Amino acid sequence: MTPPAGDDADGSEAVTGVGESRGPTGGDEGGVAERRVDPAEAFAALSDPLRVDILRELATAHRERAVESVGFADLRKRVGVRDSGRFRYHLNELRDNFVRKADGGYRLTVTGVETVAAILAGTYTHGGTLGPEPIDSECSACGADAVAVYRDGRCAVSCPDDHSLFAWSLPPAAAADATLPEIVSLAELHARQAIERGLAGVCPKCSAPVEPAVVTERDDPEPARPVPGLRVRCETCGGRLVGPVGFCLLVDPAVAAFYRRHDRPLDDRHVWEPAFVADDETVEVVERDPLRVDVEVALDGDRLAVSVDGSGEVSVRED
Ligand SMILES: [Zn+2]
Ligand SMILES: [Zn+2]
Repeated sequence: MTPPAGDDADGSEAVTGVGESRGPTGGDEGGVAERRVDPAEAFAALSDPLRVDILRELATAHRERAVESVGFADLRKRVGVRDSGRFRYHLNELRDNFVRKADGGYRLTVTGVETVAAILAGTYTHGGTLGPEPIDSECSACGADAVAVYRDGRCAVSCPDDHSLFAWSLPPAAAADATLPEIVSLAELHARQAIERGLAGVCPKCSAPVEPAVVTERDDPEPARPVPGLRVRCETCGGRLVGPVGFCLLVDPAVAAFYRRHDRPLDDRHVWEPAFVADDETVEVVERDPLRVDVEVALDGDRLAVSVDGSGEVSVRED
């Protein structure tokens, strides 16, 4: 049985997934902590298209002229609003969360910059659809051709028998002009980076501290396949990562070196392909408290025995 691997979308959140901005979260700017923004409040502030235009113009001005702040009159002209009272009202609605006054003008806060980036990347709008079409991989459960599809900002790989192999969110801007295999590669790159960051205790989306955990069927607080599995959940932005315990090995230097020695660089394979990700038989829960999961990595009759602890840390065993 091949576990579904990737970011978890259970429909409870507007945008799930790791590796992309999910929208307004607080940040840290020049050592001054901004207050955390309630998403509902933040989106309410962006309910008027004029306010989105203001954010866009501030971002454009910053890009074009590398200026930090734009004066009130200049900004009003750029946005194209004649009524100065109306403009001031909307600008004030953006103050604190998205825009701050500085050096006699206005500039974006870190949250403002991230929000504009997300809007430009199309995270909050609908993207195109590509596929489904076969890609250069086989289903590790049944051997059928793997099939990829990109829809609604999400890249998914499965087989005609509905074995889910991989799923990851990717903003439409990243997918523009790309072929489906390119989108799959990019999604895999994002996934590898997200796993690395998650295991390092950093939310891949918003950089808040997170606690990566390896869970078994007994201690999974939110039961989901696969188990044993890697779970990273961010309390700050709601981003999460759900995958098999093999994900921890995917970014481990010792495992990567083992594959290189056998002339099969891990980077050249799809993230769902290595046996330690695809094959439950390579994985065994040997201790529960503290948790220890043993994973056997084997190539050409040579083997590497590794253990993964409850926080996803991988160590090579000498046995
Ligand atoms: Zn299959
Ligand atoms: Zn986060």
